Amino acid sequence: MKLTMQLQLLPTADHKAQLLETMERFNEAATFAAKAGFEHKVYGQVAIHGLAYREIRERFGLSAQMAVRAIAKAVECFQRDKTVCPTFKPRGAICYDQRVLSFKGLTAVSLWAMTGRLLIPFVCGGYQKERQGRIKGQADLVYRGGKFYLLCTIELPEGSPIEPTDVIGVDLGIVNVATDSTGEVFSGAEVQRNRRRRATARKQHQRKGSKRAKRKLKQMAGRQRRFQAKTNHEISKKLVAKAKALGVGIAMEDLSGIRDRVEPTVGRRFRRQFGNWGFAQLGLFVEYKAKLAGVPVIQVDPRNSSRTCSKCGHCEKGNRPDQATFRCRHCGYSTNADLNAAENLRIRGLGHLVNGPEKSPVGPVLPVRRTERQSPLL
Ligand SMILES: [Zn+2]
Repeated sequence: MKLTMQLQLLPTADHKAQLLETMERFNEAATFAAKAGFEHKVYGQVAIHGLAYREIRERFGLSAQMAVRAIAKAVECFQRDKTVCPTFKPRGAICYDQRVLSFKGLTAVSLWAMTGRLLIPFVCGGYQKERQGRIKGQADLVYRGGKFYLLCTIELPEGSPIEPTDVIGVDLGIVNVATDSTGEVFSGAEVQRNRRRRATARKQHQRKGSKRAKRKLKQMAGRQRRFQAKTNHEISKKLVAKAKALGVGIAMEDLSGIRDRVEPTVGRRFRRQFGNWGFAQLGLFVEYKAKLAGVPVIQVDPRNSSRTCSKCGHCEKGNRPDQATFRCRHCGYSTNADLNAAENLRIRGLGHLVNGPEKSPVGPVLPVRRTERQSPLL
C-alpha cells in the first residue's frame, strides 16, 4: 500500500535561496516544455524532449536529469488534460527522482540545485526513521508557508487479512469523539476545549481585520488542523490495534456525507464544531491503518442507531431522554447513549459479515413502532 510521508527540510538561509532559485528555473522550464508541446500538438515525454530538451538545458541552466523532470512535469499535466496549455507557478513542486535526490544516513538528504548538490538536514522523528527504508522512487519538493517539505512515497506491506467472526462497533459523536462497543470512550474534551479557545481568539482577530490579524488567523487555522490530525491519528491507531489484538473487524458508518447529518438533540454551538471536526479524516485514518494491519472495516448504515434499543430493537425518539442517556421505553434497558449506538453498529456489522452488505437489514429486524415521523437526519 502506498502512502505519502512528509519530511520537513531544515536548509540554511543560503541553501533556502538556492532551492528557491532552482524551483523557479525548474517551473519556468516546465512551462516552456508545455508550451513547446502544446504548439506542436505533441504531449508525450519523447516528443517534447526532441523539441525542447536542448533549449531547456541552455536557457534555464538545468542539469540533464532536471531537464527531463521538467518535461515530465508538463507531460503529467497533459495526461490529465490536453486542451489547455499549463503555466506552472514559480514556486510549484519539483519532482525529484533517485538520480537527483539521495538520502544521506537518517538525517540528511542530498538534492540537486542550480549551484550543485546541497546537503540538507531534515526533521526526523521515530515515525520517519522507521519508514525511511521504504521510500520509493520519486519525491516532491514543495514550498509552503516559508518552509520546504519533501513528500516521499513509501510502500508499506498490507497485513494478511483477518477472517473476523465478530466486529467492534464504533460510534462517532461530539462529546465523545468515538465510543466503541467494548465500552472504550475516546473523549473529544481536549479537542473541544482547544477549539473553543481558538474560536474566541478568532473572533477578536476577525473584528480587527488588519494584515497582522489575518496572518494570525491563518496560523491558528493551521494549528487547529494539526491538532485535529494528531487526535485522529491517536484514536484510529488505538482502535485498529485493539481490533487486531482481538482478531475482529471494525464496523463504522460511511463517513463521506457526515457533514449533512447532525443529531437534532445537539445545539447550534456544537453543530459548528461538528461540521469542522475531521470525522471524515478519522474515517480515512481508520481505513488505511486497518488495511495495513489486515483488519477489515465494514461500513454500515447509521440511521436510527442512536434511538434504537440494542437489546430489543425498539426504535423511538423518546429512548434518548438526553444527550448522554439511553433508556428503552419498551424493555427498560438503560445505558450510555453512545455505547448503545456503538452496539447497534456492531450488530449491523455482524449482519454484513453473515449476509453480505446487500441483504443485511438496517438494524435488528424487529417491529418498529411508528410513534413519530422518522427524521432523515438521524
Ligand atoms: Zn429495549
